[in-house]
Amino acid sequence: MKNATWKRWFRPVLDLCFNSNCPLCQRSTAQEVCLDCERQLQQCRWTDLQPLAEGWPVLAWGRYDGALRRAIATLKYNNTPQLARPLGQWLGQRWQTYAASVALPALTVVPIPMHPDKQKSRGFNQAELIAEAFCQHTHLPLEREGLLRVRATEAQFGLSAGARADNLANAFAVGEVLLNRRSPKSILLVDDIYTTGATAHSAAQTLRRAGIRVYGMVVVARTMRQEG
Ligand SMILES: [Zn+2]
Repeated sequence: MKNATWKRWFRPVLDLCFNSNCPLCQRSTAQEVCLDCERQLQQCRWTDLQPLAEGWPVLAWGRYDGALRRAIATLKYNNTPQLARPLGQWLGQRWQTYAASVALPALTVVPIPMHPDKQKSRGFNQAELIAEAFCQHTHLPLEREGLLRVRATEAQFGLSAGARADNLANAFAVGEVLLNRRSPKSILLVDDIYTTGATAHSAAQTLRRAGIRVYGMVVVARTMRQEG
């Protein structure tokens, strides 16, 4: 079994039995994140409960800044998939507050996919793990392969808005599982971060072209202001 796979499945079990180190500060803790780091992360939470209106609601748990930005980087680049669990749960709590205030269609949760080559080297797709924890909390159905990444794309960082859109054109395809569905539900997309929205819009466009309704998106973090 690959090391990353081993860690993903057995580490949470081991962590339940023994104190381990907080992945963010290396201090001993019985939780996924120590109380001190959790407090710092909670300070990044948006207090405004209104979702960003981008033609569709984009609901973010926190600001992509400070402790939360570091936690997401640690999750992705420091092989720390267990961080997805508390982040996904907090996002689930945030969703439930929102869901209590609006009329919602029947929803299926679909994570933004990663290209298979990239996922293989990372060992996991953080959006899928966040969606897993989100669905455990909200009891919404999860469709892991609702979208597929069919084209490898460059990192979006540093690209202009136009270049981002070009980079993402035809990056996604609709998974068989959604195409073959008899009673379609609206899709709620899940990702770790939302900056310009280019990835989200490309994914939503792919679904809509296939006649699938997209309700909106939930993300762990979004930037303060939209970057060009
Ligand atoms: Zn800590």
